[in-house]
Amino acid sequence: MKVLIVHAHEEPRSFNAAMKNTAIRVFEEMGHTVVVSDLYRMRFKAVADSDDFLERKDRHILVRQAEERYSTNLGTLAPDILEEQRKVLDCQLLILQFPLWWFSLPAVLKGWVDRVLSMGFAYDQEGRWYDHGGLKGRRAMLSLTTGDPESCFSPRGIHGSMDQVLWPIQHNTLYHCGFEVMAPFVAYAVARRSQAEREALLQAYAIRLRGLDGEAPLAFHPLERYGDGMQLKAGFEP
Ligand SMILES: Cc1cc2nc3c(=O)[nH]c(=O)nc-3n(C[C@H](O)[C@H](O)[C@H](O)COP(=O)(O)OP(=O)(O)OC[C@H]3O[C@@H](n4cnc5c(N)ncnc54)[C@H](O)[C@@H]3O)c2cc1C
Repeated sequence: MKVLIVHAHEEPRSFNAAMKNTAIRVFEEMGHTVVVSDLYRMRFKAVADSDDFLERKDRHILVRQAEERYSTNLGTLAPDILEEQRKVLDCQLLILQFPLWWFSLPAVLKGWVDRVLSMGFAYDQEGRWYDHGGLKGRRAMLSLTTGDPESCFSPRGIHGSMDQVLWPIQHNTLYHCGFEVMAPFVAYAVARRSQAEREALLQAYAIRLRGLDGEAPLAFHPLERYGDGMQLKAGFEP
């Protein structure tokens, strides 16, 4: 199996880096091939702008999704986007490794999503989305750390449940592009834990990754269950 880890932490001695290194070690021990996009080290360009298109469909007005589709067809997206898209196409498992920032992705990783998972490549408006998405046949998983403890992310917790927090990334982004999404691995409140607790977290992550093939993905509704206005049909629970 080929695994792509997209890593979004600047500090090589961070807990996120330790999680990334754990995943590399576990997958390589299992005989898998691991490719890492270390976004800070690559100085990955996070801002989606007109420089992303070597040719323009329309030089007068920038309509990003139209240009994405046009450049995808011509093969004229910027080389760094094409390189990341090649890695995505080549993998069977994508792991996004990041610290939770403002209940979302750090900007460099959001930029990777904005620029790499482009229209015409990962999805389009002709029904190639969700379980028909362009990257169907691949699995994806979030591996993240938080500042706050798990209790804050419980159903009655102040931030809302972690499922709610991650819904835009897991359902509306990864599943939208066709990935089967595995349950996330969340290392809560890493800076507030003891060294022994943090080491136990890394061990738990290693065990989780070793058993990943035996897990079912998160159960999201397929497109066929949505009717008028893309509303869930009667008889199905949100
Ligand atoms: C802009 C911003 C927004 C944020 N928004 C949120 C938010 O919305 N919600 C939220 O909950 N938090 C938020 N935070 C906090 C953030 O999520 C945490 O600071 C981050 O998740 C901690 O992960 P880290 O890898 O940076 O930890 P680090 O600070 O790098 O590491 C934590 C500890 O682990 C130790 N460590 C490193 N490697 C190992 C190892 N191999 N074994 C054992 N210990 C090790 C480190 O030495 C350190 O003591 C935000 C922070 C910022 C800067």
